[in-house]
Amino acid sequence: MKAYGVNELRKMYLDFFESKDHLKMNSFSLVPQNDKSLLLINSGMAPLKPYFTGQEIPPRNRITTCQKCIRTGDIENVGKTARHGTFFEMLGNFSFGDYFKTEAIHWSWEFLTEVVGLEANRLYPSVYLDDDEAFDIWNKEIGIPAENIFRFGKEDNFWEHGAGPCGPCSEIYYDRGEKYGCKKPDCTVGCECDRYIEVWNNVFTQFEGDGNGNYTELSNKNIDTGMGLERLATVVQDVDSIFDVDTIKALRDKVCEVAGVAYKKDAKIDVSIRLITDHIRSVTFMISDGIIPSNEGRGYVLRRLLRRAARHGRLLGIKDRFLATLSTTVIKESKDGYPELEEKKDYILKLLTIEEDNFNKTIDQGLTILSELEDTMVKDGTKTLSGEDAFKLYDTYGFPLDLTKEILEEKGFKVDEEGFQKAMKVQRETARSARAVTNYMGTDETVYQQLDPVLTSAFVGYDKVSHSSKIMALTTESEVTEELIAGQSGTIFTEETPFYATSGGQAADTGIITTVDAEFEVEDTIKLQGGKIGHVGKVTRGLFKLSEKVNLSIDVNRRLATGKNHSATHLLQKALRLVLGSHVEQAGSLVTNERLRFDFTHFSALTKEEIQRVEEIVNAEIAEALPVHTDIMTIEEAKKTGAMALFGEKYGDNVRVVSMGGFSKELCGGTHVSNTGNILVFKIVSETGVAAGVRRIEALTAVGVFAYYNELEKELNLAAKAAKTEPVNLTKKIEAFQEEIKALLSENEKLKNKLAKDALGDVMNQVTEVKGVKLLAAKVPDVDMNGLRNLGDQLKDKLGDGVVILASAMADKVNLIAMATDTAMAKGAHAGNLIKELAVLVGGGGGGRPNMAQAGGKNPAGIDAVVEKAPKTLENQLK
Ligand SMILES: [Zn+2]
Ligand SMILES: [Zn+2]
Repeated sequence: MKAYGVNELRKMYLDFFESKDHLKMNSFSLVPQNDKSLLLINSGMAPLKPYFTGQEIPPRNRITTCQKCIRTGDIENVGKTARHGTFFEMLGNFSFGDYFKTEAIHWSWEFLTEVVGLEANRLYPSVYLDDDEAFDIWNKEIGIPAENIFRFGKEDNFWEHGAGPCGPCSEIYYDRGEKYGCKKPDCTVGCECDRYIEVWNNVFTQFEGDGNGNYTELSNKNIDTGMGLERLATVVQDVDSIFDVDTIKALRDKVCEVAGVAYKKDAKIDVSIRLITDHIRSVTFMISDGIIPSNEGRGYVLRRLLRRAARHGRLLGIKDRFLATLSTTVIKESKDGYPELEEKKDYILKLLTIEEDNFNKTIDQGLTILSELEDTMVKDGTKTLSGEDAFKLYDTYGFPLDLTKEILEEKGFKVDEEGFQKAMKVQRETARSARAVTNYMGTDETVYQQLDPVLTSAFVGYDKVSHSSKIMALTTESEVTEELIAGQSGTIFTEETPFYATSGGQAADTGIITTVDAEFEVEDTIKLQGGKIGHVGKVTRGLFKLSEKVNLSIDVNRRLATGKNHSATHLLQKALRLVLGSHVEQAGSLVTNERLRFDFTHFSALTKEEIQRVEEIVNAEIAEALPVHTDIMTIEEAKKTGAMALFGEKYGDNVRVVSMGGFSKELCGGTHVSNTGNILVFKIVSETGVAAGVRRIEALTAVGVFAYYNELEKELNLAAKAAKTEPVNLTKKIEAFQEEIKALLSENEKLKNKLAKDALGDVMNQVTEVKGVKLLAAKVPDVDMNGLRNLGDQLKDKLGDGVVILASAMADKVNLIAMATDTAMAKGAHAGNLIKELAVLVGGGGGGRPNMAQAGGKNPAGIDAVVEKAPKTLENQLK
């Protein structure tokens, strides 16, 4: 057997099933589309769910893919063993009501033995207990001796997810030989050791289960087959684990090189090497699919993986940033199967670097917080950090639990790990309950899933604003119906429609659907699985019936305004690339009739000059009055023309390319102006950051710009009126005001000081002497802390040498200061300690330096006591 590489095996598999009439499709994005039950795609089958549930008709009833997958359920074990990982690729061949057990089994056998060349006598199939059909295929057709076919129970060989379609599985195990075995006498297929490993799993979806163990035969049977690519490579290359297969080993070696360590020398170091090797793969692929680090959802998963990798880099002694370096190796090793990695390379590396820098900063911040927590623990006399605090460090500062533990252990503290897990569980459950899981594939159940999947609607609105068509389906808010009557809310589906449904960031059309006797107000237009377009709204008059012919009219003004903003978005993207560089990629957009919002990848705030330059370019292209053209072409042709496409977006075979003169060319399904001149004018109103490496621009066009300036003008006029001047003089007037305020403040300060001094009368009469130190302790009416300090300074000068203590009541509060000159201090006077003792008498607290201290209090009645007790307090201090 040849030791094929990972990239070779992927191609061999896809080519093999293509030769069996399967449609070969690219891996879907890691971000699930229209599926809230999943954060990340975790199997080859996951993105194909709509085909399995029948909600969408597959492009062919045989499909084969190699799907990038991420699973984080076992994340705590990643690194600790060589079996666990978060990122893997899954090979799959799928049948939607087409071929079944016979073909599936024969082809899996043919691929493993004839194409890959695994020895037939080392392969052992397993079937479900009762599945004689599969047993016979293996036994009689393939020729596997009965004693080499294993029958396993429900736990191992039956696929089921609540009620719904389900069925038995047949797996194929490979005997890797004695050297991988546990040497126990009963070691055989199913043993926990590494000798017999499962390389293939055929799932035969043949029953409908009621969730209580009752099954009926399905008329439409499916095949869902999965095989881990890395695991297959482990067998084919006869290596210990997935960390030893060619592509992953290259990465592992790079980790060792960067860290200056060797693999398989020290078990603890190996944990970090494996963890980094695994996590950097997940992270690289996630970023290439447009996921951005954040504190929730997918973004949080990404951040967590990234920080764990960074942290283990520190454990290995890596001092500098290193994630981008490793990511380069991931890209080099995997770009064969995933060209998007190479396309987004600059962006991936830049984002990684920013996030790694951020983490290096938060880790220091976390250390500070941890040392504060330590102080509190000492004060409270406890030796254990609470689980909540440990979790807070983990959650808010990205501080891994093991790091917290390690640091605390050095100082003889422990962490309440149980409490930590509890806090974590609470958070997980909160996250989970936010997702609604209902149908058997785990996707949201809505009224629309009751609709016949063969129904599709055609959008005819690129050049039409009204159209007449037949109603093909009606629903209320909860069920499919035959008619909708005045007052009812629901959804109307027609065969053709001029209404644009929300997609590609462009907001939906609104409008009305009418017959002679009835009217339906369309509040929203939605696109559903299977190409159905739904008009959501309310019947305001009459009755709508199934199969009836209706007239559909969109709100034309709204559509035109939306078109201006959408076209301007295309000009904006191109202008940003010209001004900032080609790393600018669209990261999201929202186009409505009122404004446009455009998120894009860039790593710093735009300068005023850059914003101005972008505005100038867009407005120049508007003034050029460029004609707007749309062409339909294949995705390959479109890419050749240099059209800009979206990150991780799933495009069909044919795409729509929107060109504006020779300036902009973009893949887009939205509606546009026919000439850029119609946009009239473009104005950026804000530029902000939304995440690391992602900026957001909000802008206006046409009448929106005039409305914006009208509003500004109104504000300006009001401000001028309030300042009793004309708008042109407003700035000068404000400057004059500021001068005036400054003068008044300084005069006010002088007056306050004078008042305080006057109120004190001939204060020097009150000077006493304590053990040879002059003391002035006095009560002053209505002076704030600032005034008290000024007064104190003056009195100290007058006194020449000694101690000044002043107390003043203002409203219900007491201000207290004490000052001591150098000579007084030399004799033992300490202003801070004086204040500490005296402040208690006015219900306050405070302290300060030996020469100057202040305090506040809540009890003005205690002021006399302060003055009275001052000499004694001072006396106690003096030597
Ligand atoms: Zn064993
Ligand atoms: Zn567009």
